[in-house]
Amino acid sequence: MSQAADAVEREAMEYDVVIVGAGPSGLAAAIRLKQLAEAAGTEISVAVLEKGSEVGAHILSGAVIDPSGIQDLLPDWKELGVPLETKVSRDKFVMLGPQGSLDISFLPFPKWMLNHGNYIASLGNVCRWLGAHAEGLGVEIYPGMAASELVYDDKGAVKGVVAGVFGIGKDGEPGPDYQPGIELRAKYTFIGEGVRGSLSKQIQAKFGLTDGREPQKFGIGIKELWQVPDANFEPGLTQHTSVGPWITPPAAVVSCTISGTIMCPSALWFT
Ligand SMILES: Cc1cc2nc3c(=O)[nH]c(=O)nc-3n(C[C@H](O)[C@H](O)[C@H](O)COP(=O)(O)OP(=O)(O)OC[C@H]3O[C@@H](n4cnc5c(N)ncnc54)[C@H](O)[C@@H]3O)c2cc1C
Repeated sequence: MSQAADAVEREAMEYDVVIVGAGPSGLAAAIRLKQLAEAAGTEISVAVLEKGSEVGAHILSGAVIDPSGIQDLLPDWKELGVPLETKVSRDKFVMLGPQGSLDISFLPFPKWMLNHGNYIASLGNVCRWLGAHAEGLGVEIYPGMAASELVYDDKGAVKGVVAGVFGIGKDGEPGPDYQPGIELRAKYTFIGEGVRGSLSKQIQAKFGLTDGREPQKFGIGIKELWQVPDANFEPGLTQHTSVGPWITPPAAVVSCTISGTIMCPSALWFT
C-alpha cells in the first residue's frame, strides 16, 4: 500500500485474540478458545474477520468430511445439529477410457482411499453452522472485512491487523471513496486464511518461515455442483473416477471424486 494510505490514523479495537478467516480452522479455533476460557472460569475476547460477504461465502461447497475433528471439538455434534447428515455408504472406483468405464471396486484399495465413516456435506453450510455456534459462545464475527495488512509492535512482533480498507485505486493510491479501515489489535493474532493467504505470505517473508524448507506443493482443484436425476441418485455413494493414459507413463492423470448427492465435488490432479 502507498505511503499516503500507510500514514493514516486509524481507530483501534482491542481483543485477546483476532482470527483472520472464518474457514473451518478459524472458526474451530474461536470455538476452542471460548471453550478453554469457560473451563478455566475466565473471559476471553475473540474476533473473527471474514472477507466473504457472509461466513461460508468463500468456502468450496461440497466435501467428503472426516468427522473426527468435529468430534474432538464438539463431542455432542450430532445432538447440536452440525449439518453432517449423509454418511458415506460405499466407495466406487471406476476407470474411464475411450471404450467406456470399468468398475474396479473389487480391487483391494488401501484404507486411506476409502471413505468409510466420513460424511458428504456442504463445507459452506458446516462453516455457517460453526459461525453461528461461535457467535452463541460470544465470538464476534465480522463478515465482509478483509484483513489487508499486519500491524507490528516496536519489537517487530505481530500485534494485530488492519481490516476494512476500501477505495484503494489500481495504482495503490487512496481514491475518492477511500476508507482507512480499522486496526484490530490482539495479544494473539491467528492467521486462518487458507492456502496462499496474503497475510501468511507477508509473515513467511518477514520471519523467514519458509527458509530452508521444502517448497509448498499445489494441485489444481475444480469443484462442480451437479443436479442428479432421482433415478441415478444414491445417497452416500462416493465415486472415484480416473482417466488414463494407463499404458504410457501418465503425463496427465485425471482423477475425480463424485459424491452421490446433489453436491458433487470433483477435483483434477495433473501429475
Ligand atoms: C477442490 C478442493 C476440494 C476439496 N475437497 C475436500 C473434501 O472433500 N474434504 C475435505 O475435508 N477437504 C477438502 N478440501 C480441503 C478443504 O477445503 C480445506 O482443507 C479447508 O477448507 C481448509 O480450511 P481453512 O479454514 O484452513 O481455510 P479455508 O477453508 O480456505 O478458509 C479460509 C477463510 O479465510 C478467508 N480469508 C482469507 N484471507 C482473508 C483475509 N485476508 N481477511 C479475511 N478473511 C480472509 C476466506 O474467505 C475463507 O473463508 C478441498 C479443497 C479443495 C481446493
